[in-house]
Amino acid sequence: MSRASDGGFDLHVHTTCSDGTEEVERVLELAASTGLEGIALTDHDTTAGFERARVAAERRGLDLVLGTEFSAELDGWSVHVLGYDIDPTHPDLAAELDRLRDERTDRARRIVERFVALGIEVAFERVAAIAGAAPIGRPHIAAAVVEAGGAANEREVFDRYLADGGPAYVPKHAVHPVAAVELLRAAGGVAVLAHPGIRGPVDGEPVLTDAVIEELAGAGLAGLEADHPDHDAGARARFRDLARALDLVVTAGSDYHGDAKPNRLGEARTARGVLEALRSRAGG
Ligand code: AMP
Ligand code: ZN
Ligand code: FE
Ligand code: FE
Repeated sequence: MSRASDGGFDLHVHTTCSDGTEEVERVLELAASTGLEGIALTDHDTTAGFERARVAAERRGLDLVLGTEFSAELDGWSVHVLGYDIDPTHPDLAAELDRLRDERTDRARRIVERFVALGIEVAFERVAAIAGAAPIGRPHIAAAVVEAGGAANEREVFDRYLADGGPAYVPKHAVHPVAAVELLRAAGGVAVLAHPGIRGPVDGEPVLTDAVIEELAGAGLAGLEADHPDHDAGARARFRDLARALDLVVTAGSDYHGDAKPNRLGEARTARGVLEALRSRAGG
């Protein structure tokens, strides 16, 4: 081993199956070249990439965790729960994922209407074309807004309009995070709270209080993604302490989205032993 970053697992990765910009096969090629032992595929509200990822991981000699980043909602804020080792055929999970994808399409129409009302002439058809077969996400809409000349880049679209609470933001109707944890566990999976340090835009207060995280732990949450690029040292320390107090596993994930975000594949890595401890907590 030469570099400290060698090995490990990036447990939070997006592809063109949701709002990442790289195809599944390319992401696994990049994972191999950056020295990862494996990744978790965690596209938003879909399991569509599973078969392609299996084939590509085998070709690259990588280990693979099949998962999703499941949309939940708390007081109007987006809360994301990572579900690993889920059964994609579980009827209740599959039904909720179908519903969430439909909800994303309706919500994208409403967001587009808001942009038009703000004087930015973005077309829903263009958003749908950018998303292709993927569930429509805000990054697809942001790309269409940039194309339409509504902002210089996607970062600016989020900062000015599309971040949670922004003038073009429309929440998804999604289940409470406790229900999300229960559903992922019922499908045989392991639930981990993604980027738990998310903050409300108005007062900058954390959306997820210690009390909420304790409630999630009671519902069977297995881990906290303490090591995420959006977290500063204070947030990381908070979640490490909380994980110790609540007997949760501390995980790391880059939230890689290709060119759609600055996050680099493998910039956050979970050790194999930690992943094994996590997987031993599967529901079902
Ligand atoms: P959605 O699931 O459609 O609500 O979109 C969520 C995705 O939008 C996240 O995974 C990020 O890729 C992106 N996103 C959300 N909030 C922001 C933000 N404030 N700045 C940049 N990207 C964001
Ligand atoms: Zn995303
Ligand atoms: Fe997320
Ligand atoms: Fe993500």
